[in-house]
Amino acid sequence: EQKEELTAQESADKGFKGHGMLAPFTAGWQTTDLHPLVIERSEGSYVYDTNGRKYLDSLAGLWCTALGGNEPRLVEAANKQLSTLPFYHSFWNRTTKPSLDLAKELLEMFTARKMGKAFFTNSGSEANDTQVKLVWYYNNALGRPDKKKFIARSKSYHGSTLIAASLSGLPALHQKFDLPVSFVLHTDCPHYWRFHLPGETEEEFATRLADNLEKLILKEGPETIAAFIAEPVMGAGGVIPPPATYFEKVQAVVKKYDILFIADEVICAFGRLGTMFGCDKYGIKPDLVSIAKALSSGYLPIGAVLVSPEISEVIHAQSSKLGAFSHGFTYSGHPVSCAVALEALKIYKERNIVEQVQKLSPRFQDGLKAFSDSPIIGEIRGTGLIIATEFTDNKSPNDLFPPEWGVGAYFGAECEKRGMLVRVAGDNIMMCPPFIITPEEIDQLISIYGEALRATEERVKE
Ligand code: PLP
Repeated sequence: EQKEELTAQESADKGFKGHGMLAPFTAGWQTTDLHPLVIERSEGSYVYDTNGRKYLDSLAGLWCTALGGNEPRLVEAANKQLSTLPFYHSFWNRTTKPSLDLAKELLEMFTARKMGKAFFTNSGSEANDTQVKLVWYYNNALGRPDKKKFIARSKSYHGSTLIAASLSGLPALHQKFDLPVSFVLHTDCPHYWRFHLPGETEEEFATRLADNLEKLILKEGPETIAAFIAEPVMGAGGVIPPPATYFEKVQAVVKKYDILFIADEVICAFGRLGTMFGCDKYGIKPDLVSIAKALSSGYLPIGAVLVSPEISEVIHAQSSKLGAFSHGFTYSGHPVSCAVALEALKIYKERNIVEQVQKLSPRFQDGLKAFSDSPIIGEIRGTGLIIATEFTDNKSPNDLFPPEWGVGAYFGAECEKRGMLVRVAGDNIMMCPPFIITPEEIDQLISIYGEALRATEERVKE
C-alpha cells in the first residue's frame, strides 16, 4: 500500500479522480485540464452531470440553493422581470420597483432589532467590503476617523475580495497575497471541542474568549476599533456553532467600547439554523448585517447589507457635509435579481420554511451524529440544516491524520461514487442541503454517508 507516499495533492487527485478537489479556491479559473465535474441540470435536491449521473447535492450548490434546483416560481419571476425591465441602475436616487420592494421586505423580515436601510451588492464579499466603507464613513461623520480597525475571528469566512479575505480568518486566503490588510485583527475561533482547556465548560470557554477579545481591544486602544464581525454559525471554516453564552458575552464587550457589531448572515439567513436569521437564534442585536446566497436561493447573484437606523441616519445627515456615500456597483439592486429574491422570500414565508427546517433538523442532525462513535471521527457538529464532520484519530482534536492520507478527500470521493456531493476541506466534511430536502432524501443522504464512512474507515485501517 502506497498511501504514505502520496502527496496531499496526489491523494486528493486520486480520491476525487480530479473532480473539484484540486483547487477549492480557484473558482472562475476554468480549464478542462483538471477534468472538472460538469453539472448540467438540477432538480429538487439533485444535480445531474453531463453524463447524466445524478447526485444528491448535500451542499445546496455552494450553501445557497435553499429552494432546490428547479423552483418554477423563481424562474417565472426572473422571466417576467426580464421581459419588463431587464436592467436599470440604482444610482443618483434612481432605482427600480423590485429593488425598493426587496429593501422594504428585508427590513420587515429582520426582527432581531430594527434596521433602517438596505444596500444591495452582487455577493457576500461585496456586502462585507461595503460594511467596511459604511463603518468608516459613519465614524468619519462622527468625527472619529481613527476608529478604523476591524476584529474578526480565526477560521471565519467573509469572502474573497481583498477586504473580505482579510476579514476571513483562514490562512490560505492570506498567504501569498500580503493579507490581511493592517487594519484587520483576528481574535479566537469559538470552537469549544478544539480549543477548550481541560475541565473548562462551554460557558467558561465563552468567558475566556470574551476576556481575550477585551484584552485585544484594550491593547490596540478601544478608540481605534471600529467593528467586530462574526458569522452566527461559522460556515466555510468548518461549521462551528458558538459555545453557550458566547454571543451574549462578546456583545457585552463590544458594546462597552462602542464597537459596532456586524453579523455576517450570508449562510445563516432565511432558516438555515431553524430560525429566520442566525441572529434570532443567538440573541444577536447587530448594527449591520450581511446577506447573500439564499436571498435569491442562489438563482441570481445578489447580496445585501442591512444598516441600523442610528448608522443610516448619521450617514444621511452628514452626506451634505462629507459628500455622498460614494459607493455602489453597476448591478446593485439589479431588478431581475431583486425580483427573484422577492419571490424567494415570499416562498420562504408561504411555506413556513423556518418550521420546515425545524421539523427536518432532528432527522438530519441525529441521523448523522449517530456516526459520532466512528474511530476516525473526532467531532460531528451542526444545527438546523448545516453540519460538519471532522476526521481525526483517537477522538482527539489534536491527533490529525497525516494530510497525505487524504482522509477527507477519500470520504468525499466515496460519497461521489455513490451519488452524493459534499464539501471537502482537508479532513472537514460539510453539508448544508436545500430546505426542500424530503425526509426520504435525508435518509438517503445518511445512508450514503454511512457507506462512505465505512469505506473510509477500512482505508484508514489498511
Ligand atoms: N460570508 C460568508 C459567511 C460566506 O459563507 C461567504 C461565502 O461562502 C461569503 C461571505 C462570501 O460570499 P460570496 O461568495 O457571495 O462573495
